[in-house]
Amino acid sequence: MIERLLSDYSIEELEELISYMDQPKFRAKQLYGWLNKGEKFDGMKNIPKSFLDALADDGYYPQGIEIEKSLTSPSDGTVKYLYRLKDGNIIEGVLMKYKYGNTLCVSTQVGCRMNCAFCASGLEGLIRNLTAGEILGQVVAVNRENRVESERGVTNIVLMGSGEPLDNYDNVCKFLTLVSDENGLNISRRNVSLSTCGLCDKIVRLADDGYSPTLTISLHAPNDEMRREIMPIAKKYSISDIIKAVKYYFDKTGRRIIFEYSMIAGKNDSEYCARQLAGVVKGLACHINLIPLNYVKERELEGSNKKNIYRFMAELEKQGISVTVRRSMGSDIEGACGQLRRKVLKDESN
Ligand code: SF4
Repeated sequence: MIERLLSDYSIEELEELISYMDQPKFRAKQLYGWLNKGEKFDGMKNIPKSFLDALADDGYYPQGIEIEKSLTSPSDGTVKYLYRLKDGNIIEGVLMKYKYGNTLCVSTQVGCRMNCAFCASGLEGLIRNLTAGEILGQVVAVNRENRVESERGVTNIVLMGSGEPLDNYDNVCKFLTLVSDENGLNISRRNVSLSTCGLCDKIVRLADDGYSPTLTISLHAPNDEMRREIMPIAKKYSISDIIKAVKYYFDKTGRRIIFEYSMIAGKNDSEYCARQLAGVVKGLACHINLIPLNYVKERELEGSNKKNIYRFMAELEKQGISVTVRRSMGSDIEGACGQLRRKVLKDESN
Protein backbone atom coordinates (compact mmCIF):
# COMPACT_ATOMS: atom_id res chain seq x y z
CA MET A 1 0.00 0.00 0.00
CA ILE A 2 1.30 3.46 -0.89
CA GLU A 3 1.39 5.82 2.09
CA ARG A 4 0.42 9.45 1.53
CA LEU A 5 0.95 12.47 3.72
CA LEU A 6 -2.27 14.49 4.06
CA SER A 7 -0.38 17.70 4.94
CA ASP A 8 0.82 17.70 1.32
CA TYR A 9 -2.74 18.39 0.16
CA SER A 10 -4.36 21.76 -0.48
CA ILE A 11 -8.03 22.27 0.47
CA GLU A 12 -9.06 21.79 -3.17
CA GLU A 13 -7.11 18.52 -3.34
CA LEU A 14 -8.68 17.34 -0.07
CA GLU A 15 -12.13 18.18 -1.47
CA GLU A 16 -11.41 16.05 -4.47
CA LEU A 17 -10.06 13.22 -2.34
CA ILE A 18 -13.07 13.07 -0.05
CA SER A 19 -15.52 13.41 -2.90
CA TYR A 20 -14.79 9.73 -3.56
CA MET A 21 -15.44 8.88 0.09
CA ASP A 22 -19.04 9.97 0.40
CA GLN A 23 -18.31 12.90 2.70
CA PRO A 24 -19.70 16.46 2.64
CA LYS A 25 -17.45 19.09 1.09
CA PHE A 26 -16.98 21.02 4.38
CA ARG A 27 -15.15 18.01 5.79
CA ALA A 28 -12.11 19.02 3.71
CA LYS A 29 -11.94 22.40 5.47
CA GLN A 30 -12.25 20.73 8.90
CA LEU A 31 -9.49 18.30 8.01
CA TYR A 32 -7.26 21.05 6.64
CA GLY A 33 -7.73 23.10 9.83
CA TRP A 34 -6.66 20.20 12.04
CA LEU A 35 -3.68 19.35 9.83
CA ASN A 36 -2.44 22.93 10.16
CA LYS A 37 -2.69 22.67 13.93
CA GLY A 38 -0.45 19.60 13.92
CA GLU A 39 -3.26 17.32 15.07
CA LYS A 40 -3.24 13.56 14.55
CA PHE A 41 -6.36 11.56 13.65
CA ASP A 42 -7.30 10.82 17.25
CA GLY A 43 -7.41 14.55 18.11
CA MET A 44 -9.70 15.58 15.22
CA LYS A 45 -12.75 15.78 17.45
CA ASN A 46 -15.42 17.02 15.01
CA ILE A 47 -14.66 14.49 12.27
CA PRO A 48 -16.37 11.04 12.29
CA LYS A 49 -14.01 8.30 13.39
CA SER A 50 -15.29 5.99 10.66
CA PHE A 51 -14.07 8.46 8.01
CA LEU A 52 -10.67 8.91 9.66
CA ASP A 53 -10.32 5.12 9.96
CA ALA A 54 -11.13 4.80 6.26
CA LEU A 55 -8.40 7.34 5.44
CA ALA A 56 -5.89 5.45 7.59
CA ASP A 57 -6.89 2.15 5.98
CA ASP A 58 -6.17 3.68 2.57
CA GLY A 59 -2.64 4.65 3.69
CA TYR A 60 -3.21 8.35 4.47
CA TYR A 61 -1.42 9.77 7.52
CA PRO A 62 -1.77 13.31 8.91
CA GLN A 63 1.67 14.52 10.03
CA GLY A 64 5.05 13.67 8.53
CA ILE A 65 7.36 15.26 11.04
CA GLU A 66 7.93 15.42 14.79
CA ILE A 67 10.20 17.47 17.00
CA GLU A 68 12.76 15.07 18.41
CA LYS A 69 14.85 17.50 20.38
CA SER A 70 15.13 21.24 21.04
CA LEU A 71 17.98 23.30 22.46
CA THR A 72 17.48 26.84 23.72
CA SER A 73 20.36 29.29 23.68
CA PRO A 74 20.90 30.71 27.17
CA SER A 75 22.38 33.86 25.65
CA ASP A 76 19.66 34.97 23.21
CA GLY A 77 16.66 32.59 23.51
CA THR A 78 17.16 31.18 20.01
CA VAL A 79 15.78 27.63 19.81
CA LYS A 80 17.36 24.97 17.65
CA TYR A 81 15.02 22.13 16.65
CA LEU A 82 15.82 18.67 15.46
CA TYR A 83 12.91 17.03 13.64
CA ARG A 84 12.43 13.37 12.79
CA LEU A 85 10.72 12.52 9.50
CA LYS A 86 8.50 9.47 9.04
CA ASP A 87 11.24 7.59 7.16
CA GLY A 88 13.70 8.16 10.03
CA ASN A 89 15.67 10.97 8.39
CA ILE A 90 16.41 14.00 10.53
CA ILE A 91 16.46 17.68 9.64
CA GLU A 92 16.91 20.82 11.66
CA GLY A 93 15.59 24.34 12.06
CA VAL A 94 16.07 27.45 14.17
CA LEU A 95 13.51 29.73 15.81
CA MET A 96 14.72 33.28 16.34
CA LYS A 97 12.66 35.58 18.55
CA TYR A 98 12.65 39.25 17.67
CA LYS A 99 10.56 42.18 18.93
CA TYR A 100 8.57 42.23 15.68
CA GLY A 101 7.82 38.49 15.62
CA ASN A 102 9.18 34.96 15.53
CA THR A 103 11.21 33.85 12.55
CA LEU A 104 11.60 30.16 11.77
CA CYS A 105 14.44 28.97 9.58
CA VAL A 106 13.09 26.02 7.62
CA SER A 107 14.81 23.18 5.72
CA THR A 108 13.74 22.17 2.22
CA GLN A 109 15.90 19.07 1.62
CA VAL A 110 17.61 16.36 3.66
CA GLY A 111 21.24 17.25 2.93
CA CYS A 112 22.10 19.36 -0.09
CA ARG A 113 23.98 18.74 -3.32
CA MET A 114 25.40 22.28 -3.66
CA ASN A 115 28.38 21.55 -1.39
CA CYS A 116 29.28 25.14 -0.44
CA ALA A 117 32.61 25.25 1.37
CA PHE A 118 31.34 27.02 4.49
CA CYS A 119 28.31 24.79 5.11
CA ALA A 120 27.87 21.55 7.05
CA SER A 121 24.63 20.62 5.21
CA GLY A 122 26.37 19.92 1.94
CA LEU A 123 28.89 17.48 3.42
CA GLU A 124 26.87 14.33 2.66
CA GLY A 125 25.26 15.48 -0.59
CA LEU A 126 21.54 15.36 -1.25
CA ILE A 127 19.68 12.58 0.54
CA ARG A 128 16.18 13.54 -0.59
CA ASN A 129 13.80 16.39 -1.24
CA LEU A 130 11.23 17.30 1.40
CA THR A 131 7.60 17.32 0.32
CA ALA A 132 5.50 20.49 0.68
CA GLY A 133 3.78 18.99 3.72
CA GLU A 134 7.10 18.19 5.38
CA ILE A 135 8.30 21.77 4.86
CA LEU A 136 5.00 23.10 6.22
CA GLY A 137 5.16 20.52 9.03
CA GLN A 138 8.21 22.25 10.52
CA VAL A 139 6.20 25.44 11.05
CA VAL A 140 3.18 23.53 12.31
CA ALA A 141 5.27 21.51 14.77
CA VAL A 142 6.99 24.60 16.19
CA ASN A 143 3.65 26.42 16.54
CA ARG A 144 2.25 23.44 18.39
CA GLU A 145 5.28 23.25 20.67
CA ASN A 146 4.86 26.94 21.56
CA ARG A 147 1.11 26.80 21.94
CA VAL A 148 1.02 28.71 25.20
CA GLU A 149 -1.51 31.57 25.35
CA SER A 150 1.14 34.25 25.78
CA GLU A 151 3.46 32.90 23.08
CA ARG A 152 3.13 34.13 19.52
CA GLY A 153 3.44 31.52 16.83
CA VAL A 154 5.76 31.72 13.85
CA THR A 155 5.20 35.03 12.01
CA ASN A 156 8.08 34.95 9.52
CA ILE A 157 9.73 32.14 7.62
CA VAL A 158 13.13 31.95 6.01
CA LEU A 159 13.83 29.04 3.65
CA MET A 160 17.42 28.98 4.72
CA GLY A 161 17.89 25.68 6.57
CA SER A 162 19.46 22.67 4.93
CA GLY A 163 18.87 22.31 1.22
CA GLU A 164 18.73 24.57 -1.81
CA PRO A 165 15.03 25.57 -2.09
CA LEU A 166 15.10 26.10 -5.85
CA ASP A 167 16.60 22.62 -6.34
CA ASN A 168 13.26 21.35 -4.93
CA TYR A 169 11.21 23.80 -6.99
CA ASP A 170 7.75 22.20 -7.20
CA ASN A 171 7.52 21.24 -3.53
CA VAL A 172 8.77 24.64 -2.39
CA CYS A 173 6.25 26.47 -4.60
CA LYS A 174 3.47 24.30 -3.26
CA PHE A 175 4.65 25.08 0.27
CA LEU A 176 4.48 28.83 -0.56
CA THR A 177 0.85 28.32 -1.58
CA LEU A 178 -0.08 26.21 1.46
CA VAL A 179 1.56 28.44 4.06
CA SER A 180 -0.29 31.54 2.87
CA ASP A 181 -3.72 29.85 2.71
CA GLU A 182 -6.14 31.78 4.93
CA ASN A 183 -7.74 28.51 6.06
CA GLY A 184 -4.37 27.33 7.32
CA LEU A 185 -1.39 29.22 8.72
CA ASN A 186 -2.21 32.36 6.70
CA ILE A 187 1.36 33.68 6.71
CA SER A 188 1.71 36.40 4.12
CA ARG A 189 4.12 35.61 1.31
CA ARG A 190 5.72 38.95 2.12
CA ASN A 191 6.84 37.37 5.38
CA VAL A 192 8.56 34.48 3.64
CA SER A 193 12.16 34.72 2.42
CA LEU A 194 13.69 32.26 0.03
CA SER A 195 17.45 31.93 0.11
CA THR A 196 19.21 30.50 -2.93
CA CYS A 197 22.81 29.99 -3.94
CA GLY A 198 21.77 31.42 -7.31
CA LEU A 199 20.00 28.94 -9.61
CA CYS A 200 19.33 31.61 -12.23
CA ASP A 201 16.84 29.76 -14.46
CA LYS A 202 14.71 28.94 -11.40
CA ILE A 203 14.83 32.56 -10.18
CA VAL A 204 13.36 33.64 -13.51
CA ARG A 205 10.79 30.82 -13.37
CA LEU A 206 9.75 31.80 -9.83
CA ALA A 207 8.98 35.33 -11.02
CA ASP A 208 7.18 34.05 -14.13
CA ASP A 209 5.08 31.64 -12.03
CA GLY A 210 3.86 34.55 -9.91
CA TYR A 211 5.58 33.74 -6.61
CA SER A 212 7.16 36.69 -4.87
CA PRO A 213 8.91 35.72 -1.65
CA THR A 214 11.74 37.99 -0.60
CA LEU A 215 14.64 36.68 -2.61
CA THR A 216 17.93 36.26 -0.80
CA ILE A 217 21.03 35.42 -2.79
CA SER A 218 23.93 33.64 -1.08
CA LEU A 219 26.70 35.54 -2.84
CA HIS A 220 29.65 35.24 -0.44
CA ALA A 221 32.28 36.43 -2.94
CA PRO A 222 32.80 39.60 -4.96
CA ASN A 223 34.19 37.90 -8.09
CA ASP A 224 33.69 34.65 -10.01
CA GLU A 225 37.13 33.24 -9.31
CA MET A 226 36.72 33.43 -5.54
CA ARG A 227 33.09 32.32 -5.72
CA ARG A 228 34.08 29.19 -7.65
CA GLU A 229 36.49 28.29 -4.83
CA ILE A 230 33.79 28.33 -2.16
CA MET A 231 30.60 27.57 -4.11
CA PRO A 232 30.66 24.88 -6.83
CA ILE A 233 27.43 26.30 -8.33
CA ALA A 234 29.51 29.29 -9.47
CA LYS A 235 30.96 27.05 -12.17
CA LYS A 236 27.52 26.96 -13.75
CA TYR A 237 26.27 30.50 -13.13
CA SER A 238 28.51 33.56 -13.10
CA ILE A 239 27.87 36.60 -10.92
CA SER A 240 26.71 38.51 -13.99
CA ASP A 241 24.15 35.71 -14.70
CA ILE A 242 22.88 36.19 -11.15
CA ILE A 243 22.64 39.96 -11.48
CA LYS A 244 20.66 39.55 -14.71
CA ALA A 245 18.26 37.08 -13.05
CA VAL A 246 17.67 39.21 -9.94
CA LYS A 247 17.05 42.31 -12.07
CA TYR A 248 14.37 40.31 -13.87
CA TYR A 249 12.95 39.18 -10.51
CA PHE A 250 12.84 42.75 -9.23
CA ASP A 251 11.18 44.05 -12.40
CA LYS A 252 8.47 41.39 -12.16
CA THR A 253 7.84 41.41 -8.40
CA GLY A 254 9.01 44.82 -7.19
CA ARG A 255 10.77 43.06 -4.29
CA ARG A 256 14.14 44.37 -3.16
CA ILE A 257 16.88 41.73 -3.34
CA ILE A 258 18.91 40.70 -0.30
CA PHE A 259 22.51 39.50 -0.75
CA GLU A 260 24.05 37.33 1.96
CA TYR A 261 27.79 37.57 2.38
CA SER A 262 29.50 35.27 4.91
CA MET A 263 32.65 36.87 6.23
CA ILE A 264 35.50 34.35 5.97
CA ALA A 265 38.80 35.31 7.58
CA GLY A 266 41.59 36.02 5.11
CA LYS A 267 39.41 35.03 2.16
CA ASN A 268 36.71 37.53 1.24
CA ASP A 269 36.92 40.14 3.99
CA SER A 270 39.40 42.75 2.67
CA GLU A 271 38.50 46.35 1.83
CA TYR A 272 39.40 45.55 -1.77
CA CYS A 273 36.73 42.81 -1.76
CA ALA A 274 34.24 45.32 -0.32
CA ARG A 275 34.90 47.72 -3.21
CA GLN A 276 34.54 44.90 -5.73
CA LEU A 277 31.27 43.83 -4.11
CA ALA A 278 29.96 47.40 -4.22
CA GLY A 279 30.70 47.46 -7.96
CA VAL A 280 28.78 44.22 -8.49
CA VAL A 281 25.54 45.38 -6.83
CA LYS A 282 25.68 49.09 -7.67
CA GLY A 283 22.39 50.39 -9.09
CA LEU A 284 20.34 47.41 -7.87
CA ALA A 285 17.47 47.80 -5.38
CA CYS A 286 19.20 45.65 -2.82
CA HIS A 287 20.55 45.24 0.66
CA ILE A 288 23.63 43.34 1.84
CA ASN A 289 23.66 41.21 4.98
CA LEU A 290 27.13 40.52 6.31
CA ILE A 291 27.17 37.26 8.21
CA PRO A 292 29.75 36.47 10.85
CA LEU A 293 30.52 32.86 9.89
CA ASN A 294 29.83 30.20 12.51
CA TYR A 295 32.89 27.95 12.75
CA VAL A 296 32.35 24.64 10.90
CA LYS A 297 34.91 22.14 12.16
CA GLU A 298 34.83 19.84 9.12
CA ARG A 299 35.39 22.75 6.72
CA GLU A 300 38.30 24.40 8.58
CA LEU A 301 37.01 27.86 7.80
CA GLU A 302 37.24 30.66 10.33
CA GLY A 303 34.91 33.63 10.54
CA SER A 304 36.35 37.15 10.21
CA ASN A 305 36.94 39.10 13.39
CA LYS A 306 34.67 42.00 14.39
CA LYS A 307 37.18 44.65 13.35
CA ASN A 308 37.41 43.33 9.80
CA ILE A 309 33.65 42.92 9.51
CA TYR A 310 33.00 46.54 10.51
CA ARG A 311 35.81 47.81 8.29
CA PHE A 312 34.23 45.93 5.38
CA MET A 313 30.83 47.37 6.23
CA ALA A 314 32.19 50.92 6.42
CA GLU A 315 33.73 50.53 2.96
CA LEU A 316 30.41 49.40 1.50
CA GLU A 317 28.60 52.31 3.14
CA LYS A 318 31.17 54.67 1.69
CA GLN A 319 30.19 53.31 -1.73
CA GLY A 320 26.51 54.07 -0.99
CA ILE A 321 25.42 50.45 -0.43
CA SER A 322 22.72 49.57 2.11
CA VAL A 323 24.33 47.06 4.49
CA THR A 324 23.92 45.54 7.95
CA VAL A 325 25.79 42.95 9.98
CA ARG A 326 23.53 40.08 10.92
CA ARG A 327 23.41 39.39 14.62
CA SER A 328 24.97 35.97 15.15
CA MET A 329 22.30 33.94 16.93
CA GLY A 330 22.47 30.50 18.46
CA SER A 331 26.20 29.92 17.94
CA ASP A 332 26.29 28.37 21.44
CA ILE A 333 23.77 25.70 20.33
CA GLU A 334 25.32 24.53 17.03
CA GLY A 335 23.35 27.30 15.29
CA ALA A 336 24.94 27.02 11.85
CA CYS A 337 23.10 25.14 9.14
CA GLY A 338 23.60 21.35 9.39
CA GLN A 339 25.81 21.36 12.48
CA LEU A 340 23.38 19.91 15.03
CA ARG A 341 22.15 17.25 12.60
CA ARG A 342 25.71 16.07 12.00
CA LYS A 343 26.41 15.94 15.71
CA VAL A 344 23.29 13.83 16.38
CA LEU A 345 24.01 11.48 13.45
CA LYS A 346 27.50 10.97 14.81
CA ASP A 347 26.17 10.27 18.31
CA GLU A 348 23.64 7.81 16.86
CA SER A 349 26.27 5.91 14.89
CA ASN A 350 28.42 5.65 18.02
S1 SF4 B 1 24.78 26.90 1.92
FE1 SF4 B 1 22.75 26.27 1.23
S2 SF4 B 1 23.07 25.70 -0.92
FE2 SF4 B 1 25.11 25.73 0.02
S3 SF4 B 1 25.49 23.60 0.71
FE3 SF4 B 1 24.56 24.73 2.44
S4 SF4 B 1 22.38 24.31 2.30
FE4 SF4 B 1 23.28 23.83 0.29
